[in-house]
Amino acid sequence: MLVSAKEMLTKAKEGKYAVGQFNINNLEWTKAVLLTAQENNSPVILGVSEGAAKYMCGFNTVTAMVKGMIDTLKITVPVALHLDHGTYEGAKQAIADGFSSIMFDGSHYGIEENIEKTKEIVALCATQGLSVEAEVGSIGGEEDGVIGAGEVADPNECKQIADLGVDMLAAGIGNIHGVYPENWTGLSFDTLDAIQQLTGKMPLVLHGGTGIPEDMIAKAISLGVSKINVNTECQLSFAAATRKYVEEGKDLKGKGFDPRKLLNPGFEAIKATVKEKMELFGSVNKA
Ligand SMILES: [Zn+2]
Repeated sequence: MLVSAKEMLTKAKEGKYAVGQFNINNLEWTKAVLLTAQENNSPVILGVSEGAAKYMCGFNTVTAMVKGMIDTLKITVPVALHLDHGTYEGAKQAIADGFSSIMFDGSHYGIEENIEKTKEIVALCATQGLSVEAEVGSIGGEEDGVIGAGEVADPNECKQIADLGVDMLAAGIGNIHGVYPENWTGLSFDTLDAIQQLTGKMPLVLHGGTGIPEDMIAKAISLGVSKINVNTECQLSFAAATRKYVEEGKDLKGKGFDPRKLLNPGFEAIKATVKEKMELFGSVNKA
């Protein structure tokens, strides 16, 4: 059964750990993340961007696939199916198609318009018991064609958005989607601290979790981060394992071309990455 992310994140904030959001791209990805969550008795959030949903033939197809897997694989840990960086229209579609959690990213609007649109999405989600993530201060890097400059959020604006009834808040603190550049200056912990002091119990979300050093992850969790998004890192480990299989010529041996064999090393690599992150975030045995 799909659940909203509210309860798992409230528990995470209280227990000083974080729940991973792992973005999914296809059947193998989804199966790998769900099985790893179950094996590690960890709550999990499946992230789906609008671009990934389009690739997988729509939110309705994704919902049906995830629900089918939860049933067939006997997944009993809490699973939230979460729209990642939703537009206003995309959020409405994902709600209609059965997602259990919605991120509305109004960070590219001015604060007034961000507030107005976030309010509407919050009201819509409230009628169906869905959790809502809002964003203040865009996250750096590119995600599905949306380019953010890596702003540092204004803590007062974070407080304004947090007070709208959202369940989790993403704030730019110098984090970036994708691989971090050599000259990256690190996370702004002063900003994070100021945001937490103003927003209290609100679970905070750290986007761009790929490649943030372990000590910074631990510090971010200690300052109120309860959800960490991981996307690129699974893509990199999947690609590396698949490349290795092909470079070793395994696809040319026997039935090595069978997609169930060809995609298996990548599947196992995603599982290993997800397990590593669950251990790092502290969500193992917190289901
Ligand atoms: Zn993001």
